Amino acid sequence: MKCKRCGELAAVKLPSHHAGFCPSCFEGFFKKQVETAVRRHGMIGRDEKVLVAVSGGKDSLALMRVLTDLGHVVEGLHVHLGIPDSSDPVAERTRAFCAASGLTLHVLHTAEHGLAVPDVKDAVRRPVCAVCGKIKRHYFNRFAYENGFAALATGHNLDDETARLFANVLRWDPAYLGTQGPTLPGEGKFVRKIKPLYRLTEFETAAYCFLKGIDHWKAACPYSGGASFTGHKKLIADLEDRSPGQKIAFYEAFLAQGRPHFAGASRGEGQDTLYACAQCGFPSSGEVCGVCRVREQVAAHKARREAV
Ligand code: SF4
Ligand code: ZN
Repeated sequence: MKCKRCGELAAVKLPSHHAGFCPSCFEGFFKKQVETAVRRHGMIGRDEKVLVAVSGGKDSLALMRVLTDLGHVVEGLHVHLGIPDSSDPVAERTRAFCAASGLTLHVLHTAEHGLAVPDVKDAVRRPVCAVCGKIKRHYFNRFAYENGFAALATGHNLDDETARLFANVLRWDPAYLGTQGPTLPGEGKFVRKIKPLYRLTEFETAAYCFLKGIDHWKAACPYSGGASFTGHKKLIADLEDRSPGQKIAFYEAFLAQGRPHFAGASRGEGQDTLYACAQCGFPSSGEVCGVCRVREQVAAHKARREAV
């Protein structure tokens, strides 16, 4: 197969775009998709500083690289969760990549905030991933807000977004359907959330990392019960195989025609009003936010253990 742009030998075949690209033209294609996403959804204003949530995986590192290459002012934040045999090597790999690429990376240790994830796992009765996700979202937003970033960018790709949309549609969840999208505007102490990779698939970000020599972390978190929405992703991949282009069409049509019907939908009685958390001052649906409550649970659990 030949490259659609230059006629050289294609290295990446993309049936959904009825095209193949050589390495250099694939990078051009990749950048173009991100540029389109940023422009269409008002993600980044002129001279605005963007914080990238960096897990160390392929999507977040590709995002750091491509936004920087497109001329945006970008810094990364890696949240170190204190998970044995996982958090240290991931942070090291991420630091090494950013240092070698001249990218600014901040590292925040949740243990310094009384929230090492192994302690959280012992202290709470809920599945650890739900709580860990809440902690990460809190600190990414808080760091962005307290350090003057205009937006927080995450590495969600088209597969993540279509799988989430599919789940929200299966449940007909109006509040989630009303807010799901590539840009969530900022409000008060919530900074704007953006997903510049939403038009690119997992395969495309993996190909980008491979061709750019981005050495990302591949091992799963030891607490992971498997990737989220795996079943939904398989179903959508099946549809895409039978009819290339379905995935992006499904998502873009939702943004244009589906989402407006759910705009402003309520989260349920008493769920829409936000207060300032009495402990950290960040938005909360109750007097104390979920993260501060977990911190209290962890401290209480430790105190009980030490007392016996
Ligand atoms: Fe946190 Fe779960 Fe992800 Fe591990 S798999 S980093 S515990 S959300
Ligand atoms: Zn709080």
